[in-house]
Amino acid sequence: MNELLKSCKLCPRECGADRTAGTGFCGGGLLPRAAKAYLHMWEEPCISGTRGSGTVFFSGCSLKCCFCQNYRISAENFGEEITIERLSEIFIGLQNNGAHNINLVSAAHYVPQIISALDLCRDRLRIPVVYNSGGYEKTETIELLKGYADIFMPDLKYFSSELSEKYSSAPDYFEYASKAIKKMIEIAGKPCIDENGIMQSGVIIRHLTLPSHRRDSEAVLRKIYELYGNESFLLSLMSQYTPFYRSSEYKEINRRISTYEYDKVSALAAELGFKGYMQERSSAKEEYTPDFDLKGII
Ligand code: SF4
Repeated sequence: MNELLKSCKLCPRECGADRTAGTGFCGGGLLPRAAKAYLHMWEEPCISGTRGSGTVFFSGCSLKCCFCQNYRISAENFGEEITIERLSEIFIGLQNNGAHNINLVSAAHYVPQIISALDLCRDRLRIPVVYNSGGYEKTETIELLKGYADIFMPDLKYFSSELSEKYSSAPDYFEYASKAIKKMIEIAGKPCIDENGIMQSGVIIRHLTLPSHRRDSEAVLRKIYELYGNESFLLSLMSQYTPFYRSSEYKEINRRISTYEYDKVSALAAELGFKGYMQERSSAKEEYTPDFDLKGII
C-alpha cells in the first residue's frame, strides 16, 4: 500500500505527493480520513432500500467543484483520521446495523487503504460494496477495485472541458471520467437487482443538470448513449442543484434549474431509452446535503 502513496498518482491530478510524510492536492495522507459513517436513507431506492445504505463519507477530494454541497468535507477536509482496522470495523458495524451495502463516498484517494480494510473483514462482510465517485478517476485505480467493489456509482458531471475547468479545475474531466466508467461497466457488468429491489452489482451513472447548461447535460446523455448504449448501466438524472459553496462567484449557476431546463433534459433521457431514476425538480431544497427524492423509473 505504502508504495502507491510514496509518490501518489492515484487520480488524474498525479500530483506525486509523498503521502507517507504529508498530504496531496486532494488532502489525503497515509491514513484514511472520514467525516461520517451512517445509514443513508436518501440514495437511489435500489441502494438505500428500506434499511439504508452503509455510507462512509471520506474527507478531501481531487475535484474542486465550486458548487459542492459537501464542501466542508471535500474542500475543507473536515473529518478525522482513522486506522485501517477501525475502518474495517466501521464496515462491519454498518452491516450489523442492517445496511444493504457499504457505500464509499469520494474514496478515490483512499483506494489502497480501503482495499486493506476490506481484506481485513472479507470473511465477515456479506453485503455489496458500492464505490460512489465524482467520476474523476484513472482506469488503473478503478482496476485495483476488481474483486472489491460490486457496484459503481460515478458522477458524470460535464462533457465540455471549458465547463469542467471553470467549475472544477479539471479540463480533462470527461476524458478521464468516460474511460473510468467504461472500466467500471467492464468490472461490474450489467445492473443486477435482487427480488427485494436491492442492487447487487452494476453501475449507476449520476448526472446533475446545472442551471444555464442544459446543452451540456444533453451532450453528456448523447455521449453516454454513444459510448455505453442504454442497457449496461442505470441512469440517475438529478435536478436538485442548489447554489452552494462558491456558486455565487458565477452568476449563471447561482440559481436553481428552471422547469424548462429540467423538462428538456429529462425528455431526452426518456427518448434515449435510459433506465434508472429521475428526480423531481420540486424536491430541490437548500437545507439538505445528499438530498434526493427520487421518483420512479425513467
Ligand atoms: S489522489 Fe491525491 S495525492 Fe494522489 S495524485 Fe490525486 S490529488 Fe495527488
